[in-house]
Amino acid sequence: MSNKLALSDLLTAVKGIGPTSYLKLEKKNITTVSQLLNYFPIRYESYLPTNNLSSMEVNKKYCFEAEVEKFTNLFTKRGLQMQRITVFGEHGKTDLVYFNQPYLKTVFKAGSKFRFAVRVGFFAAKKVSYVEEYESTLKDPLHVRALIPFYSEATHLSSRFLREKLQFVLNLLTEADLPFPEQMNYLLDDKRSPLELYRCVHAPKTLTELVSVQKRVNLERLLSVLFFQQKMKAAANSSFSRSMKVTTNDKIDFLKTLPFTPTKAQERVFLELEQSLTHNRPMNRLLLGDVGSGKTVIIAFAAYLTHKNDFRTVILSPTETLCLQHYEVFRQLFAKQNLKLSLRTNGQKEGVEPENADILFATHSFLYMGKQSRVALVIIDEQHKFGVKQREKALLLSTEDKLVPHLLSVTATPIPRSLALLLYGHLDLSYLDEMPLGRLKIKTFLVANQKREKGYYWIKEQIITQKIQALFICPLISESSAESMSDVKSVQEELSKLRALYPDLVVEGLHSKLKNKLVVLEKFRRGLIHILVSTTVLEVGFDNPNANIMVIESSERYGLAQLHQLRGRIGRGHKQAYCFLFSSEDATPEAVNRLKLLENLSDGFKLAEADLKLRGAGQIVGLLQHGINEVDLSYLFDKEFLHEKSEKIQKVLANCPNFEYNSYFATEKFVAQDNNLLN
Ligand code: ADP
Ligand code: MG
Repeated sequence: MSNKLALSDLLTAVKGIGPTSYLKLEKKNITTVSQLLNYFPIRYESYLPTNNLSSMEVNKKYCFEAEVEKFTNLFTKRGLQMQRITVFGEHGKTDLVYFNQPYLKTVFKAGSKFRFAVRVGFFAAKKVSYVEEYESTLKDPLHVRALIPFYSEATHLSSRFLREKLQFVLNLLTEADLPFPEQMNYLLDDKRSPLELYRCVHAPKTLTELVSVQKRVNLERLLSVLFFQQKMKAAANSSFSRSMKVTTNDKIDFLKTLPFTPTKAQERVFLELEQSLTHNRPMNRLLLGDVGSGKTVIIAFAAYLTHKNDFRTVILSPTETLCLQHYEVFRQLFAKQNLKLSLRTNGQKEGVEPENADILFATHSFLYMGKQSRVALVIIDEQHKFGVKQREKALLLSTEDKLVPHLLSVTATPIPRSLALLLYGHLDLSYLDEMPLGRLKIKTFLVANQKREKGYYWIKEQIITQKIQALFICPLISESSAESMSDVKSVQEELSKLRALYPDLVVEGLHSKLKNKLVVLEKFRRGLIHILVSTTVLEVGFDNPNANIMVIESSERYGLAQLHQLRGRIGRGHKQAYCFLFSSEDATPEAVNRLKLLENLSDGFKLAEADLKLRGAGQIVGLLQHGINEVDLSYLFDKEFLHEKSEKIQKVLANCPNFEYNSYFATEKFVAQDNNLLN
């Protein structure tokens, strides 16, 4: 075994990693030195260094050096075998307590010295120490420190084992093994080298140091993605798409189909789309707009222009319900235009055969059903619900291999503009930053449990006197985004409850396992159903201007952003809409309090920001896309910071247009994020 090591070396080159442990690591895709370094601890425990063992306090954690005085094997009253090891430090003594580990007698021999990390507790009314880590003082401190890293158990390798191997690796590597470009030093205020950072991650000295390392690592990951995106932008300039013609007549015809006048923002986005689609380079546009800002019309416009050019559009939606909804909206919108529509999901077939369709509505399963000819535009609604692989596949839908379809991704995720520019710098951005006129703010109320009855009564009154419809959202049961059988069951239970409560109203249920979803949705649209009970499948896309009441059960179980999305399903017409947030009996006061934000804020971005502040940094997870979830982006809400960084980035690129830096800390998943978007 050589005494040099490279990042790309296989882990078999590491002393002590034999075939058995190598295979365990390989199962978790950790095969190289670099991947092991990026296997970050899942938690750190902190211990207070002390030299006075007599004055340690109960329930606190300490670390110290001590000499073994006496090892005793005992039996407790309940017949447990217990080991008591008396140790003395610089000042004072303590008893270490173990159970059923008599073999420790060969380890803790009288006179030998150890470092211990302990938690102080009581045993039989006596203060004792429970050992969490120990090591001989003959070795350098590794397992016992003020801050001890612990690794996930996923690899089935102990934290002790991993700490040792990482120490070995970190000792052999030199600064020269991890070269760091000068440009990065210019961009980062924190000048520590990658090797120093890895040492901090796997063996931090203080908590402050750890916090600063986390920030630095995240920033570096982000910067490397930004430079990567610049490269992707350049790559886009080397492939081709259909260039379309847009005539004034086409535009006028399209606007005639709309039952309303577009907002200024919508008109601006129409123009942006027109510019991209007439170009022979692939469009890669992201449409951002809060729920209810009118994104569907934009999609329709792009699909219409594509049809007028004798090409076809594929619209991908994350759920069957959203797919159906789009299909229905387009059917009505283009009723007089003679457009051939086709709907294909796992459970449903509507309209013409896919190969004859001008617009094809599908869920992602369609992506695996073969290629389509003349597809010039792919639209991905709620793009954050799709994985990288699926987006990549969407762009390969077309049979014309040399031509890439134009891509329009759509999202209601509330990303501030500055953040979007940083994250999606390689995309063209279209913002719908204006709500359609005449939209009333949804009145949102938190309903205390004792007011529930009153609430039910009030809702019934409104349904009858105002002739409006209501949506009841059932408690979320399964954790996953896919609906489970228990979610279906909860719809059925809520349905029976409401039918009993409102015998003279028509109450129906909707969930993804239902065969006749389309029929139920259509009945609701026609006003034949008063109350629709649903799971969160309604979260995206559901659009019915007469649905003006929403009740969300166990609302404390949702994130604020999701609740905002949900309530965006109502209040789409001109009538006043109401959203009632019910909570479960076991909800904590903090969880309920958080919901108050929804009563006051109606702007998705402001809510996201407030939610973030309330839950603390690092919780932006879920708001952001696949791949970013490992990164704390909270500082991106800092405008000044962003401004300074983007200026510096521009300077670097001006001096060195091909500059690229693939951060050592960028996990493969993170780098791959947009890798596949363009080719
Ligand atoms: P989202 O952005 O959430 O997808 P939709 O496209 O579903 O929003 O639009 C929400 C509702 O607002 C729909 O009922 C739509 O018909 C209506 N709408 C869209 N644009 C306008 C507008 N310019 N004026 C009035 N109503 C509009
Ligand atoms: Mg929509």
